[in-house]
Amino acid sequence: MHHSTRSETPARTPSWTLAIVLALTVTLAVAAVSTRAQQRRTSATYGVDDFALIAAEARPGDWLSYGRTYKEQRYSPLDQITSENVDQLGIAWVYELGSKRGIEATPLVVDGVLYTTGAWSVVYALDVVTGEPLWTHDPDVPREVAQKACCDVVNRGAALYEGKILSGTLDGRLIALDAQTGELVWETQTVDPEQPYTITGAPRVVKGKVLIGNGGAEYGVRGYLSAYDADTGELVWRFYTVPGNPADGFENEAMEMAAKTWNGEWWKTGGGGTVWDSFTWDPELDLLYVGVGNGSPWNQNLRSPGGGDNLFISSIVALRPDTGEYVWHYQTTPGDTWDYTATQHIMLAELPIDGRVRKVLMQAPKNGFFYVLDRATGELISAKNYVTTTWASHVDPDTGRPVELPGARFVDETAVVFPGPLGGHNWHPMSYSPLTGLVYIPAQEMSNLYVPDLEYEHQEGQWNLGVTPAQAADVPDAVLEAIPGTTKETFEDPPAELVGTGHLLAWDPVAQEERWRFQYDVPWTGGTLATAGNLVFQGTPYGMLTAYDATSGEKLWESYTGSGVIAPPITFQVGDTQYVAIMSGWGGAFGVVGSRAARKAVESEGRVVVFALGARGEEIERQPDAEIQVTRVEHQSTPEMIAAGKTAYNRYCLVCHGYAAVGGNVITDLRQSIPRVYEFYDQIVLEGARVENGMPAFADVLDPQDVANIRAFVLDRRDRLYQEQQASGGGR
Ligand code: CA
Repeated sequence: MHHSTRSETPARTPSWTLAIVLALTVTLAVAAVSTRAQQRRTSATYGVDDFALIAAEARPGDWLSYGRTYKEQRYSPLDQITSENVDQLGIAWVYELGSKRGIEATPLVVDGVLYTTGAWSVVYALDVVTGEPLWTHDPDVPREVAQKACCDVVNRGAALYEGKILSGTLDGRLIALDAQTGELVWETQTVDPEQPYTITGAPRVVKGKVLIGNGGAEYGVRGYLSAYDADTGELVWRFYTVPGNPADGFENEAMEMAAKTWNGEWWKTGGGGTVWDSFTWDPELDLLYVGVGNGSPWNQNLRSPGGGDNLFISSIVALRPDTGEYVWHYQTTPGDTWDYTATQHIMLAELPIDGRVRKVLMQAPKNGFFYVLDRATGELISAKNYVTTTWASHVDPDTGRPVELPGARFVDETAVVFPGPLGGHNWHPMSYSPLTGLVYIPAQEMSNLYVPDLEYEHQEGQWNLGVTPAQAADVPDAVLEAIPGTTKETFEDPPAELVGTGHLLAWDPVAQEERWRFQYDVPWTGGTLATAGNLVFQGTPYGMLTAYDATSGEKLWESYTGSGVIAPPITFQVGDTQYVAIMSGWGGAFGVVGSRAARKAVESEGRVVVFALGARGEEIERQPDAEIQVTRVEHQSTPEMIAAGKTAYNRYCLVCHGYAAVGGNVITDLRQSIPRVYEFYDQIVLEGARVENGMPAFADVLDPQDVANIRAFVLDRRDRLYQEQQASGGGR
């Protein structure tokens, strides 16, 4: 693999003799340089180069990149911990991150150091055996950026390459840190900071280039993936996923082709198609597979009136990694209108299909179908729904297109659709065991009531979906009846059992069939890890890290981590000992958007928990249920104020503070504030008095009357909570 600038890097100095001679004979300044070079030479992270990443399978004790290897199977050949002895796992160490927001990262491990990321894009280096912190790098993300983040202030991890840790920041920077010291080597702003872009995904490194995407399609942006030189941070190429204004000319032929599938003036709202999570590279075929997100706004009727496929939203696009040149695409949801991103985990494997071994890629995107594609050509091999899908009956094997069901496209009428915008599967990584031949999917059964926003107007930089949260009064009886157990009373504040459920799904990708499942009564369960010990590990919103028999699905072991878990576990080996590590910290989209189901999760408290056989570290204690008893707060709110407040709340507050002001155990539940807080809403909401906590100022879009209305709505919700708690004898 080429690497043009290698010879310029000081730590590439080949000779120990040279370093020793320099250190002994020349000035202090030169000696300092040589010591630094020597340090970097001895840092094992320097050995994580193209060769090591391609040959990652040869280093089972390490975890070198996001999905462990470029195949991103999240399968470990380590087999000290097995289905026979997993019940002897104990806590080896715990590291407290001191954060209370969602934790989604996959840690990396090389030569005794665990590198990981947390809320607000902070990067950590910990001693992998003791948990002692080696360094922390806080990129000082301005807290007002939270206003642009649809799905909590999370980060899914870093990349390791030639002595550097590479990581994205919520405010759109790509940073390179010295792996040994945590010092900044370079940083690059990858987005226009005036636009509502954010980075939550992990970068990947391919042949000396750092690849990074971004999010923001809920607000109105044009999605793209960028490649930066790992040595300098300079932009090498950028691939836009949706066309811009044709009047400005197209960047390439792919954009010209894509523009033929759009209508209207989509570029005015950005078009969407953000690459906010998954992409991976096949070194043999030299193809980079990029998962592309939903359109912006969601509602296609408003985004591209008259329809069209709207390439390349909700697609997997194959590119040449050296140039960003388009090779092929497969669109999972043509003309998406439901937020069915295809940026979910992309996994590569060799599968026996009809008597021959084929190079495939697999994805379980939000739309509920499990796809197996030929990764050389993009040809559909098979697709089958892995959860309930009421938007499409099946994927036509001849055309490769979904066969939509009538009524699912909510052009002028409300529609109940499975899956909803949180998907049949979200960003939580799945895993594949070559031993069992099964893919382990953090699946969920969730529906949504899509209500077209008939008065929609795009508002620059704000929440722009083109759908509105359903108001009970607007919901037709027939629609209510379609959701079992729903009435007009329960609809506005749906009880937990209506929100959805999750399950760990063991899926046979060849037969396209379920083999087993483990059912949970909440959705939004953690990413998975498969191991050669015939185990599958997964965390839960209830704070457990759990091990299952990979063949049978039998639950074999669990341990409490102190917070709801959404992140995926990893495993690694140091000396003779195999470890399992998990990052615990409830949050992410479902955690912040809230609902009664999200409140069942254990409150967010960020930590790294590492387990080994026979380890006898102290177990994490359970905290008592933190449900706060609210008092009555007097207020003179008129029904008109409450209604107007709800409308404003739904547009500006809901995405973080939750449906019907029911928070999800991550961000403050507004109904439970101490009463004095309600007197300071102008300062908090308009002026940003709590910006350090991540509560931005909204003076650019709200005025004091709006704030009074929002307060009226919140206090009305508090009244209802108070009444419920009184009725149930003082609450839970
Ligand atoms: Ca989305």
